[in-house]
Amino acid sequence: MKKYPRPKFGWERTQQPESERTRQNRPIPSELKITQIYQKEPVNETCWAYMKLLRESNKTKKVYPVDPYVEVYQFRDNLYGLLEESPMGMGDVWMYLTIGPEKALLVDSGFGAGNIKEAVGKITDLPVMLVNTHADKDHIGCNKLFDVSYMHPSEFDRYHQTIGTEFMTAPLLDGDIIDIGDRQFEIIPIPGHSPGSIALLDADNKILIGGDSVQNGMVFMFGPDRDINTYIKSINKLTELRRYFETVYASHGSFSVDADIIYILLRGAEHIRDGAAKGIKAPYGISAKLYELNGVKFLY
Ligand SMILES: [Zn+2]
Repeated sequence: MKKYPRPKFGWERTQQPESERTRQNRPIPSELKITQIYQKEPVNETCWAYMKLLRESNKTKKVYPVDPYVEVYQFRDNLYGLLEESPMGMGDVWMYLTIGPEKALLVDSGFGAGNIKEAVGKITDLPVMLVNTHADKDHIGCNKLFDVSYMHPSEFDRYHQTIGTEFMTAPLLDGDIIDIGDRQFEIIPIPGHSPGSIALLDADNKILIGGDSVQNGMVFMFGPDRDINTYIKSINKLTELRRYFETVYASHGSFSVDADIIYILLRGAEHIRDGAAKGIKAPYGISAKLYELNGVKFLY
């Protein structure tokens, strides 16, 4: 595997050998090479049952030796989901690769444990454009391997603070179209989870790639840069676009998610904003509250 400077995100320091307890906390057997941090509390993700089914029944699964940290699934013609397990034991992240006749589009680059660029190179020889749904650490881990990373300019500062200023970015703005030859993705800004979060809408194929904002894993809405009122406005905007997508390809949780999840997310976020929802202590020592509403979860 090609060596390159790995981004220093902090969790490397706390990694410990996998313990029996950690294995119990992640009940779905995995072949992926990752050392998970010891979790005091069992990880109780809604997606375990889904992951078990996926791993046992999806015949397209591949793990390439060039990146033994990522499982690759083919979900549609020329559309792949790449799953990287979280070194934190929660929040396993999905990336998506879609391939057109002349170029390919990779959405996000994971935690960066391996070399996603080389894994993608096993799937396609075409030039690959990297787009980030936002600049949280679990989405930009392999960005350093690419010449330029496309994202909304409102993410530039937090991106460069995390990864360093020497890595080139290019802006994606509201309504921009990424054309990969046989399909087009429209950029829809959906700030709230982060200032420059975006979704990618392929209206012809009725697909929305929604990043962390539209998913049935935990939507992180606590801490700096997150804003629940802005998030509500963004999800509201997606309800107006609802007729253009049926399937959501999310960054966390189960894959894929029915488009109607946006109504549940909207209602949930409004309940939290209005103080009508009752949260419980968040897991993993996170200083926030966990809210569960009809199958969606927020940390706020
Ligand atoms: Zn994420």
